[in-house]
Amino acid sequence: MQVKDKLYVGGRWAAPYGKQTIDVHNAGTGEVMGRVPAGDANDADAAVRAARGAFEAWKDLGVEKRAAFLDKISAGLKGRSDEIARTIAQEVGMPLKMSSRIQAGLPIANFANYARILREFAFEEKVGNSIVVREPVGVVVAITPWNYPLHQIALKVAPALASGCSVVLKPSEIAPFNAFILAEVIDAAGLPAGVFNLVTGFGPEVGEALVKHPEVDLISFTGSTRAGKRISELAAQGVKRVALELGGKSASVILDDADLAAAVKGTVNGCYLNSGQTCTALTRMLVPQSKYEEAAKIAAEVAKTFTPGDPLQETTRLGPLSSQAQLERVRGYIRKGQQEGAELVAGGAEPPEGVPAGGYYVRPTVFGRVKNSMTIAQEEIFGPVLSIIPYKDEEEAVRLANDTVYGLAGAVWSKDESRAQRVARRIRAGQVDVNGGAFNMNAPFGGFKQSGHGREAGRYGLEEFLEYKSLQLKG
Ligand code: NAD
Repeated sequence: MQVKDKLYVGGRWAAPYGKQTIDVHNAGTGEVMGRVPAGDANDADAAVRAARGAFEAWKDLGVEKRAAFLDKISAGLKGRSDEIARTIAQEVGMPLKMSSRIQAGLPIANFANYARILREFAFEEKVGNSIVVREPVGVVVAITPWNYPLHQIALKVAPALASGCSVVLKPSEIAPFNAFILAEVIDAAGLPAGVFNLVTGFGPEVGEALVKHPEVDLISFTGSTRAGKRISELAAQGVKRVALELGGKSASVILDDADLAAAVKGTVNGCYLNSGQTCTALTRMLVPQSKYEEAAKIAAEVAKTFTPGDPLQETTRLGPLSSQAQLERVRGYIRKGQQEGAELVAGGAEPPEGVPAGGYYVRPTVFGRVKNSMTIAQEEIFGPVLSIIPYKDEEEAVRLANDTVYGLAGAVWSKDESRAQRVARRIRAGQVDVNGGAFNMNAPFGGFKQSGHGREAGRYGLEEFLEYKSLQLKG
Protein backbone atom coordinates (compact mmCIF):
# COMPACT_ATOMS: atom_id res chain seq x y z
CA MET A 1 0.00 0.00 0.00
CA GLN A 2 1.47 3.32 -1.11
CA VAL A 3 0.41 6.27 1.00
CA LYS A 4 1.43 9.74 -0.13
CA ASP A 5 0.53 12.48 2.33
CA LYS A 6 2.52 15.39 0.93
CA LEU A 7 2.54 17.54 -2.18
CA TYR A 8 5.65 18.84 -3.91
CA VAL A 9 5.50 22.64 -3.73
CA GLY A 10 8.33 25.18 -3.84
CA GLY A 11 11.05 22.54 -3.90
CA ARG A 12 9.93 20.60 -0.84
CA TRP A 13 7.41 17.98 0.24
CA ALA A 14 4.73 19.93 2.06
CA ALA A 15 1.66 18.87 4.05
CA PRO A 16 -1.42 19.73 1.99
CA TYR A 17 -4.04 22.27 3.07
CA GLY A 18 -6.75 19.95 1.76
CA LYS A 19 -7.54 17.34 4.40
CA GLN A 20 -9.32 14.79 2.17
CA THR A 21 -7.59 11.85 0.53
CA ILE A 22 -8.20 9.85 -2.65
CA ASP A 23 -8.15 6.05 -2.81
CA VAL A 24 -6.30 4.69 -5.82
CA HIS A 25 -7.41 1.28 -7.09
CA ASN A 26 -5.38 -1.53 -8.62
CA ALA A 27 -7.01 -2.09 -12.02
CA GLY A 28 -6.15 -5.79 -12.04
CA THR A 29 -7.68 -6.63 -8.66
CA GLY A 30 -9.96 -3.71 -7.77
CA GLU A 31 -8.17 -3.41 -4.41
CA VAL A 32 -7.09 -0.09 -2.95
CA MET A 33 -3.37 0.12 -3.81
CA GLY A 34 -2.76 3.44 -2.11
CA ARG A 35 -3.87 6.92 -1.22
CA VAL A 36 -2.93 10.45 -2.28
CA PRO A 37 -3.95 13.90 -1.01
CA ALA A 38 -6.98 15.65 -2.46
CA GLY A 39 -5.52 19.15 -2.72
CA ASP A 40 -7.77 22.21 -2.48
CA ALA A 41 -7.74 25.83 -3.67
CA ASN A 42 -5.12 26.76 -1.05
CA ASP A 43 -2.79 24.06 -2.39
CA ALA A 44 -3.37 25.35 -5.90
CA ASP A 45 -2.54 28.88 -4.76
CA ALA A 46 0.65 27.82 -2.96
CA ALA A 47 1.86 25.87 -6.00
CA VAL A 48 1.13 28.66 -8.47
CA ARG A 49 2.87 31.23 -6.26
CA ALA A 50 5.91 28.98 -6.02
CA ALA A 51 5.94 28.61 -9.81
CA ARG A 52 5.57 32.37 -10.32
CA GLY A 53 8.42 33.04 -7.88
CA ALA A 54 10.73 30.64 -9.73
CA PHE A 55 9.88 31.71 -13.28
CA GLU A 56 12.25 34.64 -13.99
CA ALA A 57 15.40 32.91 -12.78
CA TRP A 58 14.55 29.69 -14.64
CA LYS A 59 13.86 31.60 -17.86
CA ASP A 60 17.20 33.41 -17.52
CA LEU A 61 19.20 30.30 -16.63
CA GLY A 62 20.04 29.67 -20.26
CA VAL A 63 19.60 26.86 -22.71
CA GLU A 64 22.53 24.64 -21.74
CA LYS A 65 21.75 24.56 -18.02
CA ARG A 66 18.08 23.81 -18.64
CA ALA A 67 18.99 21.09 -21.13
CA ALA A 68 21.35 19.51 -18.59
CA PHE A 69 18.48 19.31 -16.09
CA LEU A 70 16.29 17.58 -18.68
CA ASP A 71 19.02 15.02 -19.33
CA LYS A 72 19.33 14.45 -15.59
CA ILE A 73 15.56 13.90 -15.26
CA SER A 74 15.62 11.42 -18.15
CA ALA A 75 18.46 9.53 -16.49
CA GLY A 76 16.63 9.59 -13.14
CA LEU A 77 13.49 8.13 -14.72
CA LYS A 78 15.58 5.49 -16.46
CA GLY A 79 17.02 4.44 -13.12
CA ARG A 80 13.47 3.82 -11.90
CA SER A 81 11.95 2.44 -15.11
CA ASP A 82 10.98 -0.98 -13.68
CA GLU A 83 9.15 0.71 -10.83
CA ILE A 84 7.39 3.08 -13.25
CA ALA A 85 6.32 0.22 -15.53
CA ARG A 86 4.97 -1.80 -12.62
CA THR A 87 3.21 1.15 -10.99
CA ILE A 88 1.41 2.04 -14.23
CA ALA A 89 0.58 -1.61 -15.00
CA GLN A 90 -1.29 -1.60 -11.69
CA GLU A 91 -2.83 1.91 -11.87
CA VAL A 92 -3.92 1.68 -15.50
CA GLY A 93 -3.91 -2.05 -16.26
CA MET A 94 -1.57 -2.10 -19.27
CA PRO A 95 0.29 -5.43 -19.48
CA LEU A 96 3.71 -5.11 -17.84
CA LYS A 97 5.88 -5.81 -20.87
CA MET A 98 4.13 -3.14 -22.89
CA SER A 99 3.99 -0.80 -19.91
CA SER A 100 7.75 -1.05 -19.68
CA ARG A 101 8.23 -0.19 -23.36
CA ILE A 102 5.55 2.50 -23.67
CA GLN A 103 4.54 3.86 -20.28
CA ALA A 104 8.10 3.99 -18.90
CA GLY A 105 10.06 4.12 -22.16
CA LEU A 106 8.38 7.10 -23.80
CA PRO A 107 8.79 9.56 -20.90
CA ILE A 108 12.48 8.66 -20.56
CA ALA A 109 12.91 9.23 -24.30
CA ASN A 110 10.91 12.46 -24.32
CA PHE A 111 12.87 14.19 -21.55
CA ALA A 112 16.12 13.34 -23.36
CA ASN A 113 14.62 14.37 -26.70
CA TYR A 114 13.63 17.78 -25.35
CA ALA A 115 17.18 18.34 -24.09
CA ARG A 116 18.33 17.78 -27.68
CA ILE A 117 15.55 19.89 -29.25
CA LEU A 118 16.27 22.73 -26.82
CA ARG A 119 19.98 22.75 -27.69
CA GLU A 120 19.13 22.95 -31.41
CA PHE A 121 16.20 25.37 -31.26
CA ALA A 122 16.55 28.85 -32.82
CA PHE A 123 15.09 31.28 -30.30
CA GLU A 124 15.69 34.32 -32.53
CA GLU A 125 15.46 35.26 -36.16
CA LYS A 126 15.86 38.43 -38.16
CA VAL A 127 12.77 39.52 -40.14
CA GLY A 128 13.32 42.76 -42.08
CA ASN A 129 14.21 45.41 -39.53
CA SER A 130 13.01 43.26 -36.62
CA ILE A 131 14.52 40.67 -34.38
CA VAL A 132 11.82 38.10 -33.60
CA VAL A 133 12.44 36.51 -30.23
CA ARG A 134 10.77 33.45 -28.71
CA GLU A 135 10.14 33.77 -24.96
CA PRO A 136 8.57 31.36 -22.47
CA VAL A 137 4.91 32.10 -21.82
CA GLY A 138 5.32 32.02 -18.02
CA VAL A 139 3.56 29.83 -15.45
CA VAL A 140 2.09 26.67 -16.96
CA VAL A 141 -0.59 24.46 -15.44
CA ALA A 142 -0.46 20.90 -16.81
CA ILE A 143 -3.58 18.77 -16.26
CA THR A 144 -3.32 15.15 -17.39
CA PRO A 145 -5.41 11.96 -17.71
CA TRP A 146 -4.77 8.36 -16.64
CA ASN A 147 -4.43 6.31 -19.82
CA TYR A 148 -0.76 7.04 -20.66
CA PRO A 149 -0.22 8.98 -17.47
CA LEU A 150 3.53 9.65 -17.41
CA HIS A 151 3.80 9.98 -21.18
CA GLN A 152 1.14 12.68 -21.20
CA ILE A 153 2.88 14.39 -18.28
CA ALA A 154 6.26 14.23 -20.06
CA LEU A 155 4.79 15.71 -23.26
CA LYS A 156 3.88 18.80 -21.24
CA VAL A 157 6.46 19.08 -18.46
CA ALA A 158 9.56 18.40 -20.60
CA PRO A 159 8.88 21.05 -23.29
CA ALA A 160 7.51 23.54 -20.72
CA LEU A 161 10.70 23.28 -18.66
CA ALA A 162 12.79 23.37 -21.83
CA SER A 163 11.11 26.60 -22.95
CA GLY A 164 11.89 28.30 -19.64
CA CYS A 165 8.38 28.07 -18.16
CA SER A 166 7.71 27.00 -14.58
CA VAL A 167 5.09 24.31 -14.06
CA VAL A 168 2.31 23.15 -11.75
CA LEU A 169 1.30 19.58 -12.56
CA LYS A 170 -2.13 18.20 -11.63
CA PRO A 171 -2.09 14.51 -12.66
CA SER A 172 -5.07 12.20 -12.90
CA GLU A 173 -6.56 11.12 -9.59
CA ILE A 174 -6.94 7.61 -11.04
CA ALA A 175 -3.23 7.07 -11.79
CA PRO A 176 -1.22 9.55 -9.69
CA PHE A 177 1.68 7.47 -8.31
CA ASN A 178 3.80 7.72 -11.44
CA ALA A 179 3.69 11.53 -11.03
CA PHE A 180 5.13 11.19 -7.53
CA ILE A 181 8.02 9.19 -8.99
CA LEU A 182 8.65 12.03 -11.46
CA ALA A 183 8.55 14.61 -8.63
CA GLU A 184 11.08 12.55 -6.65
CA VAL A 185 13.33 12.30 -9.70
CA ILE A 186 13.07 16.06 -10.29
CA ASP A 187 13.84 16.73 -6.63
CA ALA A 188 16.88 14.46 -6.80
CA ALA A 189 18.02 16.24 -9.98
CA GLY A 190 18.18 19.47 -7.95
CA LEU A 191 15.87 21.55 -10.11
CA PRO A 192 15.60 25.05 -8.58
CA ALA A 193 12.78 25.29 -6.02
CA GLY A 194 9.37 26.17 -7.48
CA VAL A 195 10.20 25.42 -11.12
CA PHE A 196 8.19 22.19 -10.92
CA ASN A 197 5.32 21.63 -8.50
CA LEU A 198 2.99 18.67 -8.02
CA VAL A 199 -0.56 19.00 -6.70
CA THR A 200 -2.94 16.04 -6.65
CA GLY A 201 -6.71 16.15 -6.35
CA PHE A 202 -9.98 16.18 -8.22
CA GLY A 203 -10.53 18.20 -11.39
CA PRO A 204 -13.53 20.28 -10.32
CA GLU A 205 -11.77 21.35 -7.08
CA VAL A 206 -8.02 21.75 -7.39
CA GLY A 207 -8.04 21.60 -11.21
CA GLU A 208 -10.46 24.49 -11.59
CA ALA A 209 -8.69 26.50 -8.87
CA LEU A 210 -5.48 26.18 -10.89
CA VAL A 211 -7.16 27.13 -14.15
CA LYS A 212 -8.76 30.22 -12.60
CA HIS A 213 -5.64 31.40 -10.78
CA PRO A 214 -4.65 34.92 -11.97
CA GLU A 215 -0.92 34.10 -11.94
CA VAL A 216 -1.27 31.30 -14.50
CA ASP A 217 -0.41 32.08 -18.13
CA LEU A 218 -1.17 28.84 -19.99
CA ILE A 219 -3.12 25.67 -19.31
CA SER A 220 -2.04 22.56 -21.15
CA PHE A 221 -4.77 19.96 -20.82
CA THR A 222 -5.17 16.39 -21.97
CA GLY A 223 -8.40 14.58 -21.20
CA SER A 224 -12.04 14.46 -22.11
CA THR A 225 -13.74 16.92 -24.44
CA ARG A 226 -16.20 17.67 -21.63
CA ALA A 227 -13.46 18.85 -19.25
CA GLY A 228 -11.65 20.62 -22.09
CA LYS A 229 -14.70 22.76 -22.78
CA ARG A 230 -15.07 23.65 -19.10
CA ILE A 231 -11.39 24.58 -18.81
CA SER A 232 -11.62 26.76 -21.93
CA GLU A 233 -14.59 28.66 -20.47
CA LEU A 234 -12.78 29.31 -17.20
CA ALA A 235 -9.50 30.24 -18.88
CA ALA A 236 -11.29 32.71 -21.16
CA GLN A 237 -12.12 34.87 -18.13
CA GLY A 238 -8.42 35.57 -17.68
CA VAL A 239 -7.61 35.50 -21.43
CA LYS A 240 -5.21 32.65 -20.76
CA ARG A 241 -3.77 30.49 -23.45
CA VAL A 242 -5.13 26.94 -23.54
CA ALA A 243 -3.79 23.88 -25.36
CA LEU A 244 -6.21 20.97 -25.55
CA GLU A 245 -5.59 17.31 -26.40
CA LEU A 246 -9.02 15.68 -26.24
CA GLY A 247 -10.90 12.61 -27.38
CA GLY A 248 -11.17 10.81 -30.69
CA LYS A 249 -13.22 8.40 -32.80
CA SER A 250 -10.64 7.55 -35.39
CA ALA A 251 -11.34 5.71 -38.62
CA SER A 252 -9.17 3.09 -40.26
CA VAL A 253 -9.99 3.22 -43.96
CA ILE A 254 -9.21 -0.08 -45.68
CA LEU A 255 -9.28 0.52 -49.44
CA ASP A 256 -10.38 -2.23 -51.83
CA ASP A 257 -6.82 -2.98 -53.01
CA ALA A 258 -5.33 -3.28 -49.51
CA ASP A 259 -3.72 -6.39 -48.03
CA LEU A 260 -6.89 -7.18 -46.07
CA ALA A 261 -5.36 -9.48 -43.44
CA ALA A 262 -2.56 -7.02 -42.61
CA ALA A 263 -4.92 -4.04 -42.58
CA VAL A 264 -7.52 -5.71 -40.33
CA LYS A 265 -4.83 -6.98 -37.97
CA GLY A 266 -3.20 -3.54 -37.82
CA THR A 267 -6.57 -1.93 -37.10
CA VAL A 268 -7.57 -4.36 -34.35
CA ASN A 269 -4.15 -3.92 -32.73
CA GLY A 270 -4.59 -0.13 -32.98
CA CYS A 271 -8.03 -0.40 -31.43
CA TYR A 272 -7.14 -2.72 -28.54
CA LEU A 273 -3.85 -1.14 -27.46
CA ASN A 274 -4.06 -0.37 -23.72
CA SER A 275 -7.48 -2.10 -23.69
CA GLY A 276 -8.82 0.54 -26.06
CA GLN A 277 -7.95 3.34 -23.65
CA THR A 278 -5.94 5.21 -26.23
CA CYS A 279 -7.11 8.55 -27.57
CA THR A 280 -5.89 7.65 -31.07
CA ALA A 281 -7.51 4.17 -30.98
CA LEU A 282 -8.72 3.05 -34.43
CA THR A 283 -12.27 2.32 -33.29
CA ARG A 284 -14.06 2.52 -36.64
CA MET A 285 -12.88 0.11 -39.31
CA LEU A 286 -14.21 1.10 -42.75
CA VAL A 287 -14.21 -1.80 -45.22
CA PRO A 288 -15.56 -2.14 -48.80
CA GLN A 289 -18.98 -3.83 -48.79
CA SER A 290 -17.61 -6.66 -50.96
CA LYS A 291 -14.91 -7.43 -48.37
CA TYR A 292 -17.12 -7.16 -45.30
CA GLU A 293 -17.60 -10.90 -44.53
CA GLU A 294 -13.92 -11.68 -44.87
CA ALA A 295 -12.87 -8.63 -42.83
CA ALA A 296 -15.29 -9.51 -40.01
CA LYS A 297 -13.94 -13.07 -39.91
CA ILE A 298 -10.33 -11.90 -39.67
CA ALA A 299 -11.22 -9.31 -37.01
CA ALA A 300 -12.91 -11.98 -34.87
CA GLU A 301 -9.84 -14.20 -35.17
CA VAL A 302 -7.48 -11.39 -34.20
CA ALA A 303 -9.75 -10.42 -31.28
CA LYS A 304 -9.43 -13.98 -29.95
CA THR A 305 -5.67 -13.51 -29.53
CA PHE A 306 -6.33 -10.71 -27.03
CA THR A 307 -7.05 -12.86 -24.00
CA PRO A 308 -7.92 -10.68 -21.00
CA GLY A 309 -5.78 -11.32 -17.95
CA ASP A 310 -3.66 -10.07 -15.07
CA PRO A 311 -1.48 -7.20 -16.34
CA LEU A 312 1.45 -8.43 -14.26
CA GLN A 313 1.52 -11.81 -16.08
CA GLU A 314 4.09 -12.09 -18.87
CA THR A 315 1.64 -13.62 -21.34
CA THR A 316 -1.25 -11.16 -20.98
CA ARG A 317 -2.14 -9.21 -24.13
CA LEU A 318 -5.26 -7.44 -22.90
CA GLY A 319 -5.21 -5.94 -19.42
CA PRO A 320 -8.21 -4.68 -17.47
CA LEU A 321 -9.79 -1.25 -17.84
CA SER A 322 -8.54 1.35 -15.41
CA SER A 323 -11.53 1.78 -13.11
CA GLN A 324 -14.95 0.50 -12.10
CA ALA A 325 -16.57 3.56 -13.70
CA GLN A 326 -14.76 2.83 -16.97
CA LEU A 327 -15.84 -0.82 -16.83
CA GLU A 328 -19.50 0.10 -16.41
CA ARG A 329 -19.25 2.70 -19.15
CA VAL A 330 -17.73 0.28 -21.67
CA ARG A 331 -20.22 -2.50 -20.87
CA GLY A 332 -23.01 0.04 -21.25
CA TYR A 333 -21.75 0.91 -24.76
CA ILE A 334 -21.59 -2.78 -25.72
CA ARG A 335 -25.21 -3.23 -24.67
CA LYS A 336 -26.13 -0.04 -26.54
CA GLY A 337 -24.52 -1.37 -29.73
CA GLN A 338 -26.65 -4.51 -29.50
CA GLN A 339 -29.81 -2.51 -28.80
CA GLU A 340 -29.14 -0.28 -31.81
CA GLY A 341 -28.91 -3.33 -34.06
CA ALA A 342 -25.20 -3.78 -34.68
CA GLU A 343 -24.09 -7.38 -35.24
CA LEU A 344 -22.01 -8.82 -32.39
CA VAL A 345 -19.09 -10.53 -34.14
CA ALA A 346 -16.93 -11.16 -31.05
CA GLY A 347 -16.99 -10.48 -27.31
CA GLY A 348 -19.97 -8.96 -25.51
CA ALA A 349 -20.92 -7.26 -22.26
CA GLU A 350 -20.68 -10.35 -19.98
CA PRO A 351 -17.55 -10.51 -17.81
CA PRO A 352 -14.76 -12.63 -19.31
CA GLU A 353 -13.76 -15.93 -17.71
CA GLY A 354 -10.48 -16.84 -16.08
CA VAL A 355 -9.53 -13.36 -14.91
CA PRO A 356 -8.61 -12.28 -11.36
CA ALA A 357 -11.70 -11.47 -9.29
CA GLY A 358 -12.40 -7.81 -8.59
CA GLY A 359 -10.43 -6.42 -11.56
CA TYR A 360 -12.00 -4.31 -14.29
CA TYR A 361 -11.92 -6.83 -17.15
CA VAL A 362 -13.97 -6.70 -20.32
CA ARG A 363 -14.16 -8.93 -23.40
CA PRO A 364 -12.44 -7.78 -26.56
CA THR A 365 -15.47 -6.92 -28.68
CA VAL A 366 -16.12 -6.52 -32.40
CA PHE A 367 -19.34 -5.14 -33.86
CA GLY A 368 -20.20 -5.71 -37.52
CA ARG A 369 -22.53 -3.94 -39.96
CA VAL A 370 -22.34 -0.78 -37.87
CA LYS A 371 -23.97 2.37 -39.23
CA ASN A 372 -21.90 5.46 -38.71
CA SER A 373 -24.88 7.19 -37.09
CA MET A 374 -25.02 4.64 -34.24
CA THR A 375 -23.90 5.70 -30.77
CA ILE A 376 -21.01 3.20 -30.80
CA ALA A 377 -19.70 4.80 -34.01
CA GLN A 378 -20.06 8.39 -32.78
CA GLU A 379 -19.08 8.38 -29.10
CA GLU A 380 -15.69 7.63 -27.65
CA ILE A 381 -15.98 4.30 -25.79
CA PHE A 382 -12.43 4.04 -24.42
CA GLY A 383 -12.53 0.25 -24.27
CA PRO A 384 -11.61 -2.68 -26.58
CA VAL A 385 -14.64 -2.26 -28.84
CA LEU A 386 -14.24 -2.17 -32.61
CA SER A 387 -17.00 -1.12 -35.04
CA ILE A 388 -16.82 -2.42 -38.61
CA ILE A 389 -18.58 -0.09 -41.03
CA PRO A 390 -19.10 -1.24 -44.64
CA TYR A 391 -18.86 1.38 -47.40
CA LYS A 392 -19.73 1.57 -51.14
CA ASP A 393 -16.85 3.47 -52.70
CA GLU A 394 -13.84 5.63 -51.85
CA GLU A 395 -15.93 8.82 -51.73
CA GLU A 396 -18.25 7.32 -49.17
CA ALA A 397 -15.30 6.01 -47.14
CA VAL A 398 -13.81 9.50 -46.88
CA ARG A 399 -17.19 11.00 -46.02
CA LEU A 400 -17.79 8.44 -43.25
CA ALA A 401 -14.26 8.82 -41.88
CA ASN A 402 -14.87 12.57 -41.52
CA ASP A 403 -18.44 12.22 -40.24
CA THR A 404 -17.50 12.68 -36.58
CA VAL A 405 -17.14 15.60 -34.19
CA TYR A 406 -13.58 14.42 -33.57
CA GLY A 407 -10.42 14.67 -35.66
CA LEU A 408 -7.53 13.21 -33.74
CA ALA A 409 -6.18 10.35 -35.82
CA GLY A 410 -6.85 7.86 -38.60
CA ALA A 411 -5.34 5.22 -40.83
CA VAL A 412 -5.44 4.36 -44.53
CA TRP A 413 -4.49 1.04 -46.14
CA SER A 414 -3.85 0.43 -49.85
CA LYS A 415 -1.30 -1.44 -51.96
CA ASP A 416 -0.99 1.77 -53.96
CA GLU A 417 1.04 4.08 -51.71
CA SER A 418 0.14 7.26 -53.60
CA ARG A 419 -3.57 6.41 -53.45
CA ALA A 420 -3.25 5.79 -49.69
CA GLN A 421 -1.52 9.13 -49.24
CA ARG A 422 -4.16 10.91 -51.34
CA VAL A 423 -6.95 9.52 -49.15
CA ALA A 424 -4.95 10.23 -45.97
CA ARG A 425 -4.70 13.90 -46.98
CA ARG A 426 -8.52 14.07 -47.20
CA ILE A 427 -9.04 12.88 -43.63
CA ARG A 428 -9.65 15.77 -41.26
CA ALA A 429 -7.43 14.62 -38.42
CA GLY A 430 -4.10 15.56 -36.89
CA GLN A 431 -2.33 12.26 -37.47
CA VAL A 432 -3.02 9.64 -40.15
CA ASP A 433 -1.02 6.40 -40.39
CA VAL A 434 -0.41 5.19 -43.92
CA ASN A 435 -0.16 1.39 -44.28
CA GLY A 436 0.71 0.99 -40.60
CA GLY A 437 3.37 3.74 -40.55
CA ALA A 438 5.31 3.74 -37.28
CA PHE A 439 4.85 6.14 -34.37
CA ASN A 440 7.17 9.13 -34.67
CA MET A 441 7.95 10.97 -31.44
CA ASN A 442 9.15 14.06 -33.34
CA ALA A 443 6.00 14.48 -35.45
CA PRO A 444 3.29 16.87 -34.20
CA PHE A 445 0.50 15.25 -32.23
CA GLY A 446 -2.94 16.78 -31.69
CA GLY A 447 -6.42 17.19 -33.04
CA PHE A 448 -8.75 18.90 -35.48
CA LYS A 449 -12.34 19.80 -34.52
CA GLN A 450 -13.43 18.68 -31.03
CA SER A 451 -10.24 16.67 -30.56
CA GLY A 452 -8.65 19.91 -29.45
CA HIS A 453 -6.13 22.46 -30.57
CA GLY A 454 -2.43 22.94 -30.20
CA ARG A 455 0.24 20.34 -30.87
CA GLU A 456 2.49 18.24 -28.67
CA ALA A 457 5.74 16.37 -29.34
CA GLY A 458 8.94 17.36 -31.08
CA ARG A 459 9.73 21.01 -31.71
CA TYR A 460 6.02 21.70 -32.26
CA GLY A 461 5.45 20.81 -28.61
CA LEU A 462 8.16 23.23 -27.49
CA GLU A 463 6.60 26.05 -29.53
CA GLU A 464 3.33 25.67 -27.58
CA PHE A 465 5.05 27.17 -24.55
CA LEU A 466 6.64 30.13 -26.31
CA GLU A 467 5.45 33.65 -27.07
CA TYR A 468 6.67 35.77 -29.98
CA LYS A 469 8.22 39.12 -29.31
CA SER A 470 9.47 41.43 -32.03
CA LEU A 471 12.07 44.12 -31.51
CA GLN A 472 11.75 46.75 -34.23
CA LEU A 473 15.18 48.16 -34.97
CA LYS A 474 15.75 51.59 -36.40
CA GLY A 475 18.54 50.88 -38.83
P1 NAD B 1 -10.99 13.71 -17.71
O1 NAD B 1 -11.26 14.86 -18.58
O2 NAD B 1 -12.05 13.25 -16.81
O3 NAD B 1 -9.76 14.03 -16.75
C1 NAD B 1 -8.51 14.47 -17.23
C2 NAD B 1 -7.86 15.35 -16.19
O4 NAD B 1 -8.62 16.54 -16.08
C3 NAD B 1 -7.80 14.76 -14.80
O5 NAD B 1 -6.58 15.15 -14.19
C4 NAD B 1 -8.99 15.40 -14.10
O6 NAD B 1 -8.84 15.49 -12.70
C5 NAD B 1 -8.98 16.78 -14.72
N1 NAD B 1 -10.28 17.46 -14.74
C6 NAD B 1 -11.52 16.92 -14.89
N2 NAD B 1 -12.45 17.88 -14.84
C7 NAD B 1 -11.79 19.06 -14.68
C8 NAD B 1 -12.21 20.42 -14.55
N3 NAD B 1 -13.50 20.75 -14.58
N4 NAD B 1 -11.27 21.38 -14.39
C9 NAD B 1 -9.96 21.05 -14.36
N5 NAD B 1 -9.50 19.79 -14.45
C10 NAD B 1 -10.41 18.80 -14.63
O7 NAD B 1 -10.44 12.58 -18.67
P2 NAD B 1 -9.92 11.13 -18.29
O8 NAD B 1 -11.13 10.29 -18.05
O9 NAD B 1 -8.87 11.18 -17.25
O10 NAD B 1 -9.19 10.71 -19.65
C11 NAD B 1 -9.85 10.14 -20.72
C12 NAD B 1 -10.05 11.14 -21.84
O11 NAD B 1 -8.82 11.76 -22.22
C13 NAD B 1 -10.56 10.52 -23.09
O12 NAD B 1 -11.61 11.28 -23.61
C14 NAD B 1 -9.38 10.55 -24.05
O13 NAD B 1 -9.66 10.54 -25.39
C15 NAD B 1 -8.68 11.77 -23.63
N6 NAD B 1 -7.27 11.71 -24.00
C16 NAD B 1 -6.82 12.49 -25.02
C17 NAD B 1 -5.49 12.46 -25.40
C18 NAD B 1 -4.97 13.32 -26.51
O14 NAD B 1 -3.78 13.53 -26.57
N7 NAD B 1 -5.78 13.83 -27.38
C19 NAD B 1 -4.61 11.62 -24.74
C20 NAD B 1 -5.11 10.82 -23.72
C21 NAD B 1 -6.44 10.90 -23.35
